[in-house]
Amino acid sequence: MRSSFRLILEVKSTMEKVIDESVQGSILTLDTKGTNSRKLYIESYGCQMNFSDSEIVASILAKEGFNTTQVLQEADLVLVNTCSIRDKAEATIRKRLEKFNAVKKTNPHMKVGVLGCMAERLKSQLLEEEKIVDMVVGPDAYKDLPNLIQEIDEGRNAVNVVLSKDETYGDIAPVRLNSNGVTALVSITRGCDNMCTFCVVPFTRGRERSRDPQSILGEVASLWEKGYREVTLLGQNVDSYLWYGGGLKKDFEKASEMERATAVNFANLLQLVAEAQPKMRIRFSTSNPQDMTLDVVTTMKKFRNICNHIHLPVQSGSNRILREMNRLHTREEYMTLIDAIKEMIPDCAISQDMITGFPTETEEDHKDTLSLMEHVKYDFGFMFSYSERPGTMAARKLEDDIPETVKKRRLQEIIDAQRAHSMFRTQEHVGVVEEVLIEGASKKSDAHWMGRTSQNTVAVFPKENYKEGDFVHVKINECTSATLLGEAIGYSENN
Ligand code: SAM
Repeated sequence: MRSSFRLILEVKSTMEKVIDESVQGSILTLDTKGTNSRKLYIESYGCQMNFSDSEIVASILAKEGFNTTQVLQEADLVLVNTCSIRDKAEATIRKRLEKFNAVKKTNPHMKVGVLGCMAERLKSQLLEEEKIVDMVVGPDAYKDLPNLIQEIDEGRNAVNVVLSKDETYGDIAPVRLNSNGVTALVSITRGCDNMCTFCVVPFTRGRERSRDPQSILGEVASLWEKGYREVTLLGQNVDSYLWYGGGLKKDFEKASEMERATAVNFANLLQLVAEAQPKMRIRFSTSNPQDMTLDVVTTMKKFRNICNHIHLPVQSGSNRILREMNRLHTREEYMTLIDAIKEMIPDCAISQDMITGFPTETEEDHKDTLSLMEHVKYDFGFMFSYSERPGTMAARKLEDDIPETVKKRRLQEIIDAQRAHSMFRTQEHVGVVEEVLIEGASKKSDAHWMGRTSQNTVAVFPKENYKEGDFVHVKINECTSATLLGEAIGYSENN
């Protein structure tokens, strides 16, 4: 019994760590409100920011008379929160739109709306040329949804894709959709100013702006009150967080002396959250090497409730490709940063995002990526083949010239390297007692709990009398490349 349980875990969890597809297309539901009579079906794709945004959308629509449903056929309004990051993501969503249109034929009252990055990228094309939706809403226009829905109710198409200078949705208390009641996402910045040449995000999510720290602290406090025990502070580039009273990050240079003197950066924000909720676990994602500073690592070291994990995408190990990608650091600077983090917090887990087959990438460049991976030995990673995105600098200036077969082979080589490094990292935990926060039942066995260590590694152990939300000391007995298997030996002092 035990060995078959382990084998299934091994195969499944290795896959999950490479690309977590398991949450894509999740249908989000929340408690039914008696006075609401209309039915909303909402599906989400893409990054954690999108899932967090869907919670904001559901919160806005709950006040507009909508309850969520999981049954597509009975929906009055179908919303799909979309992702444009790779061609494949858009293709998957297009298939879903075709399906929604087929259902619409049997339910003519049903309206379909596209939210998020694809809405922003394609604007009214989906509405006017392709005629496959009734409503198109960009990521900064969700507060306009009540007006837009009124438009479609009255039989007109509706569109709002205006990007904002200051919208952070800080004043909306998100409802938690499909929540485990233990961990939650808290958005702290929106947009991105980095202009990596491969990336569509600055075009679809606009310029970077930060959310008022008081509203972040308020949201985290309310999560703690409701029983949540872990928050992930979210942004495309969290290290670039800067609050100086509101407005775009790029306008900070125009700020008054007072605004500058009282500005809050990411290290300050982390400290504020860690001090305000000393028993809450705090994570953050995503960091960008060019913006990450060691004062963030110093703050992590100072507070035991800030988890020892940094997601630090590098995309390539080749200096030439990093330059072509407009990543504003070298391979050497990245490795120096990693070495400094490991010196300050030796057991800090590091994870990566990597793109293989970027235009002009040679075998030499690819070998540089493999050797950088060998140096860092990441705990886990998300690896992708380059996908040309219309409008980006790379699409305008560089031919997508690496053949698919070569991209595929190189991707497999970095996945294989990552698998070996993940195994090396998980083995470091064997024989050690780790603090695990229980998130829920293991997907593979009802008799086991699943939780995560501070390093974000999944741990599975027999349930005994522990419950969800408990902080437990778990003795790790064995591991796969992505999962620790052990037994609880008592509550941790954090409980
Ligand atoms: N803030 C992150 C960073 O430091 O680059 C970017 C987050 S991005 C939304 C998520 C990941 O998608 C990127 O890190 C990158 O690996 C991948 N990605 C973005 N554009 C891509 C493209 N055109 N082709 C393939 N992968 C891409």
